[in-house]
Amino acid sequence: MLLRMSTLFLRTLREDPADAEVPSHKLLVRGGYVRRAAPGVYSWLPLGKLVLENVAGVVREEMNRIGGQEVLLPALLPREYYEASGRWTEYGDTLFRLTDRKGADYLLAPTHEEVFTLLVKGEYSSYKDFPVILYQIQEKFRDEARPRAGVLRGREFHMKDSYSFDIDDEGLERSYAKHRDAYVRIFDRLGLRYVIVSATSGAMGGSASEEFLAETPNGEDTFVRSTESDYAANVEAVEIPAPPARPVEGLPEATVHHTPDTPTIETLVDHLNGAGLGRTFTAADTLKNVLVKVRQPGAEEWEVIGIGVPGDREVDMKRLEAALEPAEVALLEEADFAARPYLVKGYVGPAALQGNKLAFYADPRVVAGTAWVTGADKTDHHVVDLVCGRDFTPDGVLDVADVRDGDPSPDGRGTLYSARGIEIGHVFQLGRKYADAFEVDALGPDGKPKRITMGSYGIGVSRVVASIVEQSHDDKGIVWPRAVAPADVHVVATGKGEQVEVALRLAGELEAKGVRVLVDDRKGVSPGVKFTDAELLGVPTALIVGKGLADGVLELRDRRTGDREEVSLDAAVDKVA
Ligand code: ATP
Ligand code: MG
Ligand code: MG
Ligand code: MG
Repeated sequence: MLLRMSTLFLRTLREDPADAEVPSHKLLVRGGYVRRAAPGVYSWLPLGKLVLENVAGVVREEMNRIGGQEVLLPALLPREYYEASGRWTEYGDTLFRLTDRKGADYLLAPTHEEVFTLLVKGEYSSYKDFPVILYQIQEKFRDEARPRAGVLRGREFHMKDSYSFDIDDEGLERSYAKHRDAYVRIFDRLGLRYVIVSATSGAMGGSASEEFLAETPNGEDTFVRSTESDYAANVEAVEIPAPPARPVEGLPEATVHHTPDTPTIETLVDHLNGAGLGRTFTAADTLKNVLVKVRQPGAEEWEVIGIGVPGDREVDMKRLEAALEPAEVALLEEADFAARPYLVKGYVGPAALQGNKLAFYADPRVVAGTAWVTGADKTDHHVVDLVCGRDFTPDGVLDVADVRDGDPSPDGRGTLYSARGIEIGHVFQLGRKYADAFEVDALGPDGKPKRITMGSYGIGVSRVVASIVEQSHDDKGIVWPRAVAPADVHVVATGKGEQVEVALRLAGELEAKGVRVLVDDRKGVSPGVKFTDAELLGVPTALIVGKGLADGVLELRDRRTGDREEVSLDAAVDKVA
């Protein structure tokens, strides 16, 4: 299929769209690859669709290579499935919900664990049926709190999601390893610079989980890496061992108590009462941490902080608002977390005052801080100091660390430094969460039912397109890696004579040799405009049929290096193909 710019459904733009901040958003819109239809909802135009399909093609090949079987499941699903797994509630406001004409509740699926689990339950029943890997490449729907950056974070987006079903843990580990290898091959072939980091498993549940982050300063995720080992983790998942208690000047040394389980005021009180500390604790002796989001005037981002509140009281919002004026402040809802992970500044988890010592519990969901000593009963004081993010005075209660650059690596080798990335892929060992919810058993060789175990694995296909552009562009436009480019060669006819005719002939010959060609055969468009468009569109090689044609000379341009080279008309096709 010859792509002729004289008829191609393509209009490029000279100006950046007003709502665009990041390069991929600007360039994909300006290059006519995508058009916004609604907030976080995009149409893919002919060249964009080609790029999207190229990415999907690489994903498909590598999924097939590990034995994945492609299916296509509906995006419109009944509430019951997600009710059974608990995600109808867990997903909160992120879930697009709708009601049919009979009043039955439906949703537009944000991811498909439930339906795949039920599908396999319906078809398979014996241990001999397993393992199996199923995948699809399909639209997903999430009412993201902050759709941003064009297709980087859409509310409708394309995902490859796959699911593995195994009889035992060893099987799951094999399926997980296969996916991890496939992802390495996929992102290598797509020419992305990425890092594999340990991750929290978020709303999916489950244990082992890694993310593939494309390194770019515009990424929403922060990860840390060791200077000396291959340790790398999303900051949300970093487990820094509890530091030793540290004396604060003028105060006695602190005691730090950790609980093994989920911290709540109740478990904290129980724990302290069982710790033989010589007194009985009540909720009033404890501090709970309440997560609050704060936004400075004019700022786009919310910052999340934890504030200490006496365990038997509610947070005093009026007081907080007064302390933080003119910033906006609101309590952080569970749904905020479901929508996006926040790095919480100064979070210490529920804590208890013990004389002038503070015992604290770190919440694994947001662990980003550790705390030591407090002056006795200065709880009100804590609230203000923490929220204001001031430097804490020696009697000002807390010393709070985030993971910081220069911290020792948890594996004991080297120190940590941080960088930003975009989550392009995610692999999870789900375990039996969904198999339990839907009671999926396979009959074992002994005739007894055995609960199966699962993994789930996602790649943001549309987000990958934007991530490639983030990493591969210059001030003139996109620089596509060949594997995903909408064409291999952009044949540009400039000049008034037979250039267009020759360009079309060359394009035909190239195509016959299997080269994918975009040809600029527009008449009445200046050479300058054509070159500007070619640079914006970003096809790897341009073949210019211009003034030199009279002498039988054409020009080849390399989009990435900018190198130019003359080539004779007769040799051009062989040279390019
Ligand atoms: P994020 O942390 O960016 O919100 P996620 O962890 O919620 O992503 P997953 O549930 O792991 O996303 O989905 C699998 C993949 O789908 C992600 O790794 C990412 O590449 C892609 N993805 C998720 N949300 C979006 C979105 N709103 N727009 C585009 N791609 C997305
Ligand atoms: Mg998300
Ligand atoms: Mg994530
Ligand atoms: Mg994820």
